[in-house]
Amino acid sequence: MSKNHERIHIDEGNLCHLCATELGGIYAELDLTEAELNILSVPRRIFTVHFPVRLSNGTTRMFIGHRVQFSDARGPSKGGIRFHPDLKVDHVSDLALLMALKCAVVNIPFGGAKGGVVVNPKELTRGELELVTRGYIRAIADFIGPFKDIPAPDVYTDERIMAWILDEFEHLKREHVPAVVTGKPYELGGLRARKYSTSLGGIYVLEDAMKKQGMEKSGTRVAVQGFGNVGENAARILYEMGFTVIAVSDSGGGIINQKGLDVPEVIKHKKISGAVSGFPGSEQMTNADLLTCDCDILVPAALSDQLTRNNVKDVKAKIILELANAPTSLEADNMFFDKSVMLIPDILANSGGVVGSYFEWIQNINNDYWEESKVLDRLKKIMITAFNEVYSVCQEENCTMRKAAYKIAVKRILSAERLRGNL
Ligand code: NAD
Repeated sequence: MSKNHERIHIDEGNLCHLCATELGGIYAELDLTEAELNILSVPRRIFTVHFPVRLSNGTTRMFIGHRVQFSDARGPSKGGIRFHPDLKVDHVSDLALLMALKCAVVNIPFGGAKGGVVVNPKELTRGELELVTRGYIRAIADFIGPFKDIPAPDVYTDERIMAWILDEFEHLKREHVPAVVTGKPYELGGLRARKYSTSLGGIYVLEDAMKKQGMEKSGTRVAVQGFGNVGENAARILYEMGFTVIAVSDSGGGIINQKGLDVPEVIKHKKISGAVSGFPGSEQMTNADLLTCDCDILVPAALSDQLTRNNVKDVKAKIILELANAPTSLEADNMFFDKSVMLIPDILANSGGVVGSYFEWIQNINNDYWEESKVLDRLKKIMITAFNEVYSVCQEENCTMRKAAYKIAVKRILSAERLRGNL
């Protein structure tokens, strides 16, 4: 090992938590060199910025924002911006690494990033939220750009905020740069399908997984936890495709009907009443019971840490499609593998969102906007190719799909680093 590649001293503040825990085991199995481990364990750049905002009551408050660019070996770094009062740079760093792995699994030419502002957006007026967004973008404007680092929405940020980001960046650069951010409104170069590309991408993978398991759509019973952007779209698309969606839930609890729910009617009911609970003809259930209900396919699409060693034995589904991020503990994942339950991990299952962002970026750069059918065709191709690559590694190595996905992603990132002469 050359002098340059000696292991740097990584203290706890630098080493990403994921590398020290979950990913560490996978890194160990890959028999990585010290230099490779360093590259995969430390973010390339961490920016922390402080910026003042004049609030509507006339006082000025300093805000803190972060942007972590974990990796850019495979292309400009890509990842969301979240506004959250408990935002910590270590967690942002973990999420940036996950973005790098996600982009590598589906083989799109992006690295991984994440960022955000320490703020509770619910405590701000609309005008203050806009000032915070613009202040943050002014502070990080030199570090982002269509060929550097491309933000997107994340927790508590949405397309309205992406529009302000675009506008502020363009004011600073004095030119149109729509590809600097994805998840924008359609009128500003956004992608219509972005709203459901996470759910649809996962469902394309699910269809292929079912073929491999010899399962038919008709009569297949699905339970979906979460009825937000991802869960509602997943339930709706599955229903439209002819699946029997028997259970759905939101933060207020779940509903079940073993004969199948009329999902479009559940959507209407939630719009009027604010919750899925109380839908006529359904029985009430808890979110915990939804996970273990009698179904063929389980789709966690809400929170992390839902499936753990405590409930694995009660789960009846044959396939689990992780549309949420990190709904299953590593231990539970291994237990599902022993039970022959096919678990399609988050970094593959929910990567349709970032693939949609990739299409938005390509269209913005080329100023050439595609028909919806072309977007969906390309999404399907990318998702199914990635699934089959992961599936083959599982078959060859008799390992979980999560491990196979991580292995593929890590190899792709390292290969790019090697070709650049960094290894
Ligand atoms: P969202 O905020 O739109 O919806 C979250 C849903 O979870 C809501 O229906 C809410 O009622 C429900 N929920 C909250 N607490 C709950 C509880 N205790 N039990 C059951 N349900 C509960 O969020 P979203 O965009 O749909 O994201 C859902 C998950 O998917 C998150 O893990 C997110 O990180 C992941 N994800 C989202 C995208 C995307 O494109 N939006 C992409 C990749 C991953």
